[in-house]
Amino acid sequence: MPSWIEQSIARGILTTRYPHAPASDAEVPLTGRAPGPKDPGTTPRSAIDSCPVGAIAATTVDQGKCIRCARCLARGFAFAGSVESVARARAELKTGPGAVPTAARPVPLAEFGRSLHVFLVDVGSCNACNLEVLGIANPFYDSQRLGIFFTNSPRHADVLLVVGVPTPEMREPVLRAYDAIPAPKAVVAVGACPISGGAFARNPGLVGPLDGILPVDVYVAGCPPTPVAILDAIRAVAGRARPAEEA
Ligand code: SF4
Ligand code: SF4
Repeated sequence: MPSWIEQSIARGILTTRYPHAPASDAEVPLTGRAPGPKDPGTTPRSAIDSCPVGAIAATTVDQGKCIRCARCLARGFAFAGSVESVARARAELKTGPGAVPTAARPVPLAEFGRSLHVFLVDVGSCNACNLEVLGIANPFYDSQRLGIFFTNSPRHADVLLVVGVPTPEMREPVLRAYDAIPAPKAVVAVGACPISGGAFARNPGLVGPLDGILPVDVYVAGCPPTPVAILDAIRAVAGRARPAEEA
């Protein structure tokens, strides 16, 4: 049996070319993309009624609420080609003719160095967002080559990454983690749960959304978001743009 070194040489480099090439269909499947009406000028009433989280309105789709359930696809909607799912302001997650324009290029939040250290807190997730977040550190996405590292202490962190919909029990722990991070610091809300409550938004026992508890700097839509979107969000903290804009 060949050694792992021989196998690695035979396979060649498998690490994604992100951020120097656009994300492939395999890296961002359809459900990682934003839904919208096939005919941009028309939002069928049946699509509005089909959405279980109230994400669809007459002139907008709130990507921060969308849980990618695909129920609207049979009612004149489709998942779009765009993989953009990162925003600096909550309102920017709305797409469609009634949406506010988004900034073409992210502005650095603060004078971060070339590396960013990330502290992850799960305030009540289904675990899918956790898996996608941890995926950025695997050999394929290899976040370390971009200067992005996980840390086990908030005192060593620059970025607080939050997954899940905030529960009463996790309110104080996430606030303590935020307070322990030295300035400058940024908060990234990953997935529909911390952004809007997602599938659990109507649960009266929750204390979300996250921006009612902490100042959120970057929002990543999706349920769950893809690793590419999560990398986009962390890079946006330091003002680094999408690959196509950097090429
Ligand atoms: S995919 Fe589901 S949650 Fe998203 S807009 Fe369509 S119906 Fe609503
Ligand atoms: S956003 Fe979706 S995938 Fe992420 S924790 Fe919530 S329910 Fe799970």
